[in-house]
Amino acid sequence: RRPAAPPTPGEILDRYDILKERLGTGATSDVFKGKVKATGKPVAVKVLDKLTRDAHRQENLAEDIQGARTEAALMGELSGSAHVADLLDFVETPAKIHTFLELVPGGELYDQLRLEPYTEAEAREHFRQMMLGMAHVHERGIVHRDIKPENILMMEPSRTAAIKIVDFGFAERVPKGGQLFERLGTPKYVAPEVWRADDRRGRGYGTNADIYAFGIILHQMLTGQEPFDYVKARWARAHPPEADQSPSEDRTQEFSEWAASHNVPPMTETRAPEAEKITPEARDLIVRLLVRDPASRITAAEALEHAWFRAAPRPEPLVE
Ligand code: ADP
Ligand code: MG
Repeated sequence: RRPAAPPTPGEILDRYDILKERLGTGATSDVFKGKVKATGKPVAVKVLDKLTRDAHRQENLAEDIQGARTEAALMGELSGSAHVADLLDFVETPAKIHTFLELVPGGELYDQLRLEPYTEAEAREHFRQMMLGMAHVHERGIVHRDIKPENILMMEPSRTAAIKIVDFGFAERVPKGGQLFERLGTPKYVAPEVWRADDRRGRGYGTNADIYAFGIILHQMLTGQEPFDYVKARWARAHPPEADQSPSEDRTQEFSEWAASHNVPPMTETRAPEAEKITPEARDLIVRLLVRDPASRITAAEALEHAWFRAAPRPEPLVE
């Protein structure tokens, strides 16, 4: 018997219905709801349109296409992990890239953060899952490079739901014994060593760059504020915008680059009233996640052993 020929792009696309319902929009793609025709099973479809893109997206087209291909390769490798959305299919044609993913229908951590801060018990469950997912990714030598609340999704819009990490469009494999040097990410969440990366000096970064972003996230979950808000306000007063800058311009990138080379304690280390609201264990974990030197920063696997996770009985195991 001859082995069956691999399915053509048209045959794979024909397995799915792509619906009008939009699940989300990111920097590179639009994500729609879809269905497996044969079973009716709902899926998510991330669509990168190579031909009709707005001007902002047009600029980065070549990189975004490469990003989508790498994303599929890496997500394929990570599939089967409880806390990373599964890759179902990947189809590239001259006009579009379709990435079919497990549907994670409960919205973004970003939406939860716009409500009220998490209680520590709520945060413990969600954050534990984030660390489990991240440990799985990092064990395989993969760094996500765009960890932020928009890229952490939940199976239901609730703080007890299962969470899944998505958007591996910036992800990369860290070479064995080596490091990465590209400066990218979303300014608010970029680790200091990523800002400082410099290949001519051999100063790079590895998987632990993602962990810094989780320090920002855990702080936001527990206090409703960003850890460096108070320094940012002071910095903005001391560094008024240039004459040609609009006063409303978001200066996060400028501030983050400045902060990367200054020793800025997170709010949890100060006497800010917000910091008083959280337990010493939570504060300690945040500070360890935000350690500036990546070699001394806590890892995802180590974080799971932190006292904060033992501060209360574990919730019932999740049924997934
Ligand atoms: P981009 O690379 O353009 O940022 P993302 O992969 O982050 O694209 O997807 C954009 C948004 O679409 C996400 O922030 C999320 O709201 C939604 N989304 C992405 N993947 C899924 C999924 N598997 N299930 C449900 N919604 C998703
Ligand atoms: Mg995204």
